[in-house]
Amino acid sequence: MTDAPRRAPKFPLRLDQMATPRRTPVKPPHPAAPARPPAAPVAAPLLRPQQPLQHAAELAARSRAPTGLGMDSASVRRRMAERLRADGLRHEALLAALADVPRHRFVDAALVTQAYEDTSLPIGHGQTISKPSVVARMIELLLDSAAGRRGARLARVLEVGTGCGYQAALLARLARQVVSVERVKPLHDRARDQMLALGIANARLVYGDGMLGHPPNAPYDGIIAAAGGESLPQAWLDQLAPGGRIVAPVHDGGARQVLVVVDRTEDGFERTVHEAVQFVPLRSGLVR
Ligand code: SAH
Repeated sequence: MTDAPRRAPKFPLRLDQMATPRRTPVKPPHPAAPARPPAAPVAAPLLRPQQPLQHAAELAARSRAPTGLGMDSASVRRRMAERLRADGLRHEALLAALADVPRHRFVDAALVTQAYEDTSLPIGHGQTISKPSVVARMIELLLDSAAGRRGARLARVLEVGTGCGYQAALLARLARQVVSVERVKPLHDRARDQMLALGIANARLVYGDGMLGHPPNAPYDGIIAAAGGESLPQAWLDQLAPGGRIVAPVHDGGARQVLVVVDRTEDGFERTVHEAVQFVPLRSGLVR
C-alpha cells in the first residue's frame, strides 16, 4: 500500500476558507523605485445586500446608454453650444449649461437622434420641448435682468410649464433654486423622475396651475413661461421680486405671440416687447 498524499476536500468549504481575501499579485518594484511601505492588510470582501428596488431603477436610468448617440453625446452637445455662440449667445454660464445638460435624456427614445438639432420636439400630451435656440434666448433675457446682473447666480426662479424638464435642468445650473410648475400630471411625474435620475437637487417640481404662480416660494428673481397666454397673469406680477424679470410669450391681441419682458423696478413695472414666437397655449386648470 502506497502512502498517497490525502487531497483536501473542495466542498463544503469551511467558513474561514470562504472569508479568505483574494490578493492580487504585486509586481516587484522597479529597481530605481523607492521601497514601498509594507502593504496594509486586505479586508475580506464584503457581501453587498441588494439595493432597494427604487434605487435600482434610479441607477439603471442613470447608467443607461444614450440610445442612438453612443458616447458622442458630449461632443454633439458642445457643438450645439458652439453654434449658439456663433449665433450671438454670449452668456458663458448659460453656454456651459447648454453644453452640459443631456437634452437627449428628456426626449422620447425615438427622437434621441434629433435631440441636438435646433428644433422643437413632441413630448406627448400635445406638448413640445422648445428649440434650444429659443430656450437659450429666453434664459439669456432672464439672466440679463437687474437681479441677474447683480450677482453670479439668480436666487430663485419660477418656471411655468415644466414639460419634459429640460429648461428646468438648465435653470438649475444658473439659479440657486428653481420652482417649476406643470399642469399635466404625467409630464410632471416623468420630469420629476428625470431630475432624480440626473441628480438635480435644486429644482422643485410642482404639479399645479402655473397661472397662479407658486406663492409658497415667492418672491422670484425670475419668472419664465414656456406657454403663451392672452396676457400676463396678475399672480406672476405679484410674485416678482424687485429687480426681477418675467420672460413670457404673450398673444399680441391677435393670433401672433410675442416675447414679452417685464421688469419690476422701484417705481413699478416696465414692459418691453421682443420678437414673435410660437409656444403652446397657457391653460388654466389641471390635467390628471
Ligand atoms: N420648458 C418645457 C417646455 C414645455 S411646453 C421643456 O423644457 O420641455 C409647455 C408646457 O407648459 C406644457 O407641458 C404644458 O402642459 C404646460 N402648461 C401650459 N399651461 C400651464 C399652466 N397653466 N400651468 C403649468 N403648466 C402649463
